[in-house]
Amino acid sequence: MSSPISKSAFIKAEQCLKYFYLYKNHPYLRDSLSKEKQFIFKRGTDVGIFAQQLFPGGVDVTEGEKRDQQLFAQKTKDLIANGTKTIYEATFIYNDLLVMVDILTKQEDKWIAYEVKSSLKITDTYVKDACFQYYVIKNSLPDLADFNLLTLNPKYVLENELEIEKLFKKTSIMKDALKNLEYFAHKTQVAKLTLEQGKIPDIKIGTHCFQPYECDFLGTCWKNTNDPSSVLTLGKLTKQAMFELYDSNIKRIDEIDINTIQHKEVKIQVKAAIEQKEQISREDVKAFISTIKQPVCSLDIEVWMPAIPYYEGTKPFQQIPFLFSMIYEEDQQIKNFSYFKPIEEDLRKEFLEQILLATKDFQSILMFDKSLEETVLNQLVELYPEYRKDIADLKNKIIDLAEPIRKGNYYHPEMKGNFTLKSIAPLVNQEAGFNNLDIQSGISAMYIYESLLVQNMIEGEQTKQQLIDYCEMDALITFQLLNFFKIKSD
Ligand code: SF4
Repeated sequence: MSSPISKSAFIKAEQCLKYFYLYKNHPYLRDSLSKEKQFIFKRGTDVGIFAQQLFPGGVDVTEGEKRDQQLFAQKTKDLIANGTKTIYEATFIYNDLLVMVDILTKQEDKWIAYEVKSSLKITDTYVKDACFQYYVIKNSLPDLADFNLLTLNPKYVLENELEIEKLFKKTSIMKDALKNLEYFAHKTQVAKLTLEQGKIPDIKIGTHCFQPYECDFLGTCWKNTNDPSSVLTLGKLTKQAMFELYDSNIKRIDEIDINTIQHKEVKIQVKAAIEQKEQISREDVKAFISTIKQPVCSLDIEVWMPAIPYYEGTKPFQQIPFLFSMIYEEDQQIKNFSYFKPIEEDLRKEFLEQILLATKDFQSILMFDKSLEETVLNQLVELYPEYRKDIADLKNKIIDLAEPIRKGNYYHPEMKGNFTLKSIAPLVNQEAGFNNLDIQSGISAMYIYESLLVQNMIEGEQTKQQLIDYCEMDALITFQLLNFFKIKSD
């Protein structure tokens, strides 16, 4: 007998029946989970556990048990029969469908369910998932009176003690759940029939591979499109536009009629593929460089965005700067400087003072995609208005080196449709690079910083060094990118 269809499996069936079939029958074909996705899942679990404090004293069905959902369902049944008032990870099986819900609590003889989302907003996908949970639970527990989503309240500001009732926002999804009972009865039937067919559904790749979630089987379905000349590697195009080309049998970038393309950033990619060489608009790059004044440094900032506010005066997911690195040249030597804020203390003022001091003698400050840094600086102005003028001076000196790339004034076929610093890094510096680092993205850096909360001193020192190495690499490649542009535009 096959295992019941879980909520995760059903979501996949909604996205693509092939995804669902592969997930159920060929899980070994799944792509390995990226570090970023692992961090995001872990945060979801952590926030879910944290929210249990809203209904203290409950019994966690999964605690101390091996991962056996049939056992969890039996345990839930027993707890309900024994009069338990609050159950965490309550598990239900109905008609070969299985769901777990974060919190189930009894209030005045009626059961109320709560599903926790580590998010500030409710999306259509969250509502649909919750409606599916309601459908299964209601059929197993007729006394279920309400089903709510718990999301983080974007207006909540931490003052003294954390007030958990104010931190979470409760939204009932009952209106949608009641409307959709028949929908789920039908759709779950379709999913079951798909499994009964006993063969992988013949579904072509398309925009659905990314909506609402990136599929875990891209490595299997997309393996024939890995060629860097595939139109599916084109950057700056919507997925829909990409598939319009692909489905009209234009599979390779060099098969596109260049005269039909309006956007410069797409045109440059097509030209690079046809000519098999880098493309540069020398005049534009030169004009851009001419705005840069010496002395120059590069700067990169890393931020932490804790779902549950950690410092007084902060909101859920507020960007907290914790590290900056800069690179500059002195006596023909590359020099670096980094400031690292320990996690225990809210030293944002010191962070600001350090960054102002470190950059004040430079006339131009190079960044690659300044949006995050500008947001951080704008927040610091609000927090410390006495530094308004200094921050404005710093902002005026920022030069965003992503601009020539974003505007389609430089492109190399090896960038493979990506316009990020990571994609251009191997062209700028062949020896140094992100690949050799423990941390390879800003998202990872954010979560790894958070792990300092539970690390001992030795682990903490290692983590700090890894974070600094990552931030300095970002600043170094940005600094060297200027020289790269100079040589290329000469
Ligand atoms: S990659 Fe696309 S077509 Fe293949 S299983 Fe996933 S969603 Fe379906």
